[in-house]
Amino acid sequence: MFVGSYTSARLALTTPPDCCCNCGGHGQLEFVDTPMKQVRFFFVFGTELTLTESFPYCAGCKGSAKRARHGWLAKGIVYCLVTSCAFLGLVMSHALLPGFVAGSLFYSALILSALLTAGYYTTRKPKRAGGTYYQPVELTEAWIGDKHIARFELAFHNARYAAAMRRSNAELIDAGVFKIQ
Ligand SMILES: [Zn+2]
Repeated sequence: MFVGSYTSARLALTTPPDCCCNCGGHGQLEFVDTPMKQVRFFFVFGTELTLTESFPYCAGCKGSAKRARHGWLAKGIVYCLVTSCAFLGLVMSHALLPGFVAGSLFYSALILSALLTAGYYTTRKPKRAGGTYYQPVELTEAWIGDKHIARFELAFHNARYAAAMRRSNAELIDAGVFKIQ
């Protein structure tokens, strides 16, 4: 599968500097561009839409702005790559391995890489309590009209920041253009 069409746009929302949009913390906040992606597949073709908006982050959460969550496809690619490396590693250290591993290198590589991949994804932890390691805002839906975005929906990790966004963008929400999940 491949992505054949890319569309990107900049949003012009009101993003209040009430608190960090990730952990909800106060203090020194910095506005950081947050690219939110939506990838859709139709058989083997895909379209990727990126909407960018800058949100306030504290120093500890700043790094999460561009850290998109991996979907099942990205996780599958990571798993395949890890499997190839694990298989190569096992082949090269063949002589040193215990008999039951050396006898079934391919299956051993599959199991080893499944453990490594699962371990990698479960140890991604946020730096601050209440925050998330990944982007704290996701583009959950977008409807594209004739060369413009007709409607879009965002989901915020932090409920307090979601409430602040609702208050600051009431007009767009009332008009049905913007929705917060
Ligand atoms: Zn924060």
